[in-house]
Parts: sequence; structure tokens; C-alpha cells
Amino acid sequence: MAQITPKVYSIEGITHPDPRGKVFPYLFVEDQNDLTLIDPSFLSQLPILEDYLIDIGYNIKNVKRIILTHVHMDHSQAANEVKRKSGAKIYSHWIEARYLSHNPPYSGPPTAQETVNKLEKLGVSMEALTKEYGSFDVEPIMVDEQISDGDTIGSLKVIHTPGHTPGHISLYYEEDKLLLGADSISKHVFGADGMYISAPQVSIDPVTAIVPAQRLSKVNFDKLLMAHQDSLLLEGAREAVETLVVQSIQKLKR
Ligand SMILES: [Zn+2]
Repeated sequence: MAQITPKVYSIEGITHPDPRGKVFPYLFVEDQNDLTLIDPSFLSQLPILEDYLIDIGYNIKNVKRIILTHVHMDHSQAANEVKRKSGAKIYSHWIEARYLSHNPPYSGPPTAQETVNKLEKLGVSMEALTKEYGSFDVEPIMVDEQISDGDTIGSLKVIHTPGHTPGHISLYYEEDKLLLGADSISKHVFGADGMYISAPQVSIDPVTAIVPAQRLSKVNFDKLLMAHQDSLLLEGAREAVETLVVQSIQKLKR
């Protein structure tokens, strides 16, 4: 069920078009009627997310905040529909809010064509994918609250972690020493070994992304939840990120 702490869930059951990975939205419970949903993911998978909430005793109608860590559609596509169902406000970094509203449109990486090419190489039939996920387009998402580094949303502190996308954010819950890293760091997914900072093929500036990762490594956390991961990292996560940063810098200095 992936209840991480009394207030934090990593939502399971949502598949990804790339068969080598999954995507995990998160739920933060301020209280029974005051929920924060982070990255609602694919529109076609929303029934899975709604059933998950019911299974753990909550209801999508009680979502008060939808936080989008970044513009990528595997994180954001269902945001407008969750807002329609719940009346929740949508939050994102002020940089990302522009791309979410398609003004200007986000052109990647990855571009739509790059994604199609990658999936075809993996032997995924686009016909089967379209059947399961419908359209991969995302309608413009109007962000209600544009946030900046250091802001708080309910109990969560915003840390700007650009590089994967320009306005990518991570979220920190101090009481549980817990960091929601979204796509700033990934682990053992999409064909890569070990942990890595902002996967190069799908990140706008994976080298610059090392700087915010270094900043994250100085935050006091034990647990790191990533949007794409093979398994949860629930202890020693800060040290793991610190090592990853050192190794990433060394690789580039060679
Ligand atoms: Zn992403």
C-alpha cells in the first residue's frame, strides 16, 4: 500500500508507457478532508488513482491542492480533471506555470517524436499504447498559485531543482525528514543502473541539474521518494544523494 509515514503515501498501480519504469504520484494528508496530491499523472490512469484513494480511506473530492513538480505529461496530464472533480487549486513553480499553460509550449526534451522513437525501439506498439493511454496531448493547465524556492504549500517546503525541466521542484516535509524528489533523481528505471541525476535524454540541462542535487544533499532528510524508482529509499537517502553528486561531478571532471 506504500504508506510511507502517517501523512505520506506513494501511490502505486500506475503504469508507464515505457515498460522499464512506473510513475508514482504522492499523497500528503494534512487531515482527512484536506489532501495534497502531487503529480496526478496520466488522465487515462485517473480511475486507478481514485480507487487507490478510496482503498486508503480518502476521496478525490477532498483534494485541496494539486502540486505539479514539472510540466512532463506523465506527471501533469490529469491535473485539470482532478481540479474539476475536487475544486482543488493547482500549484507549480512560476517558470513551469508558463509551459503548463502552453505559453510558450514546452518543446522538450523529450519531444513527442523522440518519445515515439524510443518506445518503438523498445518494441512498444503505438496502437496498443493509444488504446491504453488515449492521447498523449495535454490541454493547457492554468496554475492557480505560482510558487518559488523556499515557499511552503501546506506543510511542504518547496525546493527549486531545475535541470530536468527549468521549473522542476522537489518538496520537503521536515517532520518526517522526507524528501519528494520527483524527477530530480531516479533509481534503477528506464534501462539505467543505479541512481542518477536528471536522466540526460529527457532533461533540458542534466549537467546544471547537479547543482540543485548538491543543494538537496545538504537538506536534513532520511527518506527520498522519487517519481520513477524500482524501490523506496527509506533510510540513508541523504548520504546516497551526496555520494551520487560527488560521483557525477567526478565523471564530468575526467
Ligand atoms: Zn519528467
